[in-house]
Amino acid sequence: MTLGFETQQIHAGANPDPATGARQIPIYQTTAYCFRDAEHAAKLFNLQEVGYIYSRLTNPTVAALQERVATLEGGAGAVCCSSGHAAQIMALFPLMGPGKNVVVSTRLYGGSITQFSQTIKRFGWTAKFVDIDDMDAIQNAIDDDTRAIFCESIANPGGHIADLRAIADVADKAGLPLIVDNTTATPYLCRPFEHGATLVVHSMTKYLTGNGTVTGGVVVDSGTFDWSASDKFPSLSAPEPAYHGMKFHETFGALAFTFHSIAIGLRDLGMTLNPQAAHYTLMGIETLSLRMERHCANAQKVAEWLEGHDAVTGVTYAGLKSSPYYDRVAKVCPKGASGLFTFSLKGGYESCVKFVDALELFSHVANLGDTRSLVIHPASTTHRQLSPEQQRAADSGPEVVRVSIGIETVDDIIADLDQALTKAG
Ligand SMILES: *Cc1c(COP(=O)(O)O)cnc(C)c1O
Repeated sequence: MTLGFETQQIHAGANPDPATGARQIPIYQTTAYCFRDAEHAAKLFNLQEVGYIYSRLTNPTVAALQERVATLEGGAGAVCCSSGHAAQIMALFPLMGPGKNVVVSTRLYGGSITQFSQTIKRFGWTAKFVDIDDMDAIQNAIDDDTRAIFCESIANPGGHIADLRAIADVADKAGLPLIVDNTTATPYLCRPFEHGATLVVHSMTKYLTGNGTVTGGVVVDSGTFDWSASDKFPSLSAPEPAYHGMKFHETFGALAFTFHSIAIGLRDLGMTLNPQAAHYTLMGIETLSLRMERHCANAQKVAEWLEGHDAVTGVTYAGLKSSPYYDRVAKVCPKGASGLFTFSLKGGYESCVKFVDALELFSHVANLGDTRSLVIHPASTTHRQLSPEQQRAADSGPEVVRVSIGIETVDDIIADLDQALTKAG
């Protein structure tokens, strides 16, 4: 019998501690682990036996979190990383190489656009940006050097919902993995593997932890992609010199990507999550479903209220009937469209800045997915580095405000927006 989501968010990965019986998962604040003897140590280093060596690679608290997120996403394995951005590099690392490219959505978190359009070039990787709603554009962007397609299930900040099944079909036809950033949706609202995705990445900084205490990320593997079907993914299919010619896919099957990410990715890139952070995230995930229900319900009411306000020219929330993505909610994230969206003010840039300054309950921060309501004006902050065209493509023009609706009393949220809109003129 498969347990329900609400049961798994509490119990997955959380067996009583084998040493003490501790009911809650202990924070294993240790760097290293004693080997039983020299033979045990040799086997661990050869990947012939699974166990703990050194916390850059694996740690029991982090491992519990990996198991929990993998379970909630319906994946084969997961690897936690030091941030969402680290997770994105860790997801691409086994797939890419100098001269290779990834086809990515223009509608991504601003930091991801910068990471993909600028920083990955230092590795000899490139990103080809496409309108992720345009299947022909995705198809046409794919060439012999393409190694993955990358999009967000519910896009930050615009709340656009990707037609994951249609994109996965394009990826399948080209023999490529589809990587989905599921940060805004969380596995409670959307499970990308059920729509054909190969890998899921999260910024656990956001809804998974849920209270603004942690920077963390995770890569989850569905375990279903055939890395050996072509010669495109030699890191996973070809002999690995650092492990005496062992082939990851042949040896570890559905766990090939996960084992590679630990044994090579974390070993050599070192983007490791610390056990204290893993503990906070485990605590957060225990209430994920309850928080997401309230985030969605509050966001729906707030979006409807804003849509009827004179100073507001548009609201992007996909839960609104006016949204072009309304029909996709039922298909992609039937439990709701999350708590993140943008709206536009008639008064443009000046009004947005005044509005943000006038809010009292909302916190003006560069974060989302917190229990408390958050606001930011992307054009003057997170999306500042982008060109005007990139800003517009990412729904972050000068007149746009992004809100992450918290789980407070919804009337208080609306009252704060009301007084600030009045002050913004
Ligand atoms: C915040 C965010 C990231 C980056 O995550 P960090 O934990 O800040 O590194 C990536 N994708 C999305 C959708 C995000 O919201």
